[in-house]
Amino acid sequence: MEKIQCLIIGSGPAGYTAAIYAARADMKPVLYQGMQPGGQLTTTNEVENFPGYPNGITGPEMMLELEAQAKRFDTDIRFGFIVKVDFSGNIHRCWTDQGHEIQAETVIISTGASAKYLGLESEQKYLLNGGGVSACAVCDGFFYRGQEVVIVGAGDSACEEAHYLSKLCTKVTMLVRKDEFRASKIMAERVRKTPNISILFNTETQEVLGDGNVVTGVRVLNRSSAQEQIIPCTGFFVAIGHQPNTDIFKDYLHLDETGYIKYEQPGTSRTNIPGVFVAGDAADKTYRQAVTAAGTGCMAALDAERYLAAKH
Ligand code: NDP
Repeated sequence: MEKIQCLIIGSGPAGYTAAIYAARADMKPVLYQGMQPGGQLTTTNEVENFPGYPNGITGPEMMLELEAQAKRFDTDIRFGFIVKVDFSGNIHRCWTDQGHEIQAETVIISTGASAKYLGLESEQKYLLNGGGVSACAVCDGFFYRGQEVVIVGAGDSACEEAHYLSKLCTKVTMLVRKDEFRASKIMAERVRKTPNISILFNTETQEVLGDGNVVTGVRVLNRSSAQEQIIPCTGFFVAIGHQPNTDIFKDYLHLDETGYIKYEQPGTSRTNIPGVFVAGDAADKTYRQAVTAAGTGCMAALDAERYLAAKH
């Protein structure tokens, strides 16, 4: 068992930014990297919208730089993840996958969210090789300027992303598996009214096609007519929702109906448990950007520092 001042769970931009601030405030933070060290950005190719990188940087490189910056101030960065917590007392108890118990005065949760994918082998192949599958239009849409893309999903995210892509791409084909949108009326209307978005209802993705390196099209099936067709495209966007990584906190923290951690007081990083703070996508289903995650990471470390100062 180990007693510490500040435990940070997760190693995306929120976690590392919290670590930089907490370490510089002498809180001697311990950071557990989680199952996917570096977080969602490690599946992104080029990051061109994070301020301070005028020539862009790859997602994995950016995360290594953030890690190095957190280490420079002596953050104790550990490989492994937290599997269980007990937030019932004044001191917050957390257990690692190795069975090690940590007792922390403050906890910063930056466990992020995971984009959902269809799970097709061909989709995963072109996702992992950076060949044209993406779950973030705002991050990757720019690379498909003047080209034709396909997006799957029918919720608010899919509509918002389809609309975003329609401004960059010559044609956006939207694949909706049912005969209706799930999105709010206003978002669905906006998509319907955009001339270069074509909506295919009752349509399922069967296979992402490519030349082995990059995406060249998508084979789809119309479920009503049982007709297959191939839609040529260079980018395949998946917008079927995200899953916040908050399951282990559900017995203690207030979550919304989709599992995102609720802020106790908007404009702060406080949760309903004193001394437990949240940053990044675990509490954000609206913005989901590296820069907003980093901003809330900073807020969480400052809130944790003030909490400790008031306590001692
Ligand atoms: P949602 O869960 O609302 O929608 C997911 C969509 O993906 C559904 O239409 C669903 O289809 C579809 N889908 C799921 N699995 C598959 C699959 N295997 N194949 C094809 N389609 C699939 O997720 P969102 O990310 O869109 O939204 C999450 C929350 O965030 C919502 O509350 C939303 O309102 C909110 N949001 C708000 C925004 C805003 O107000 N600006 C912007 C973005 C999100 P089906 O309908 O058939 O189940």
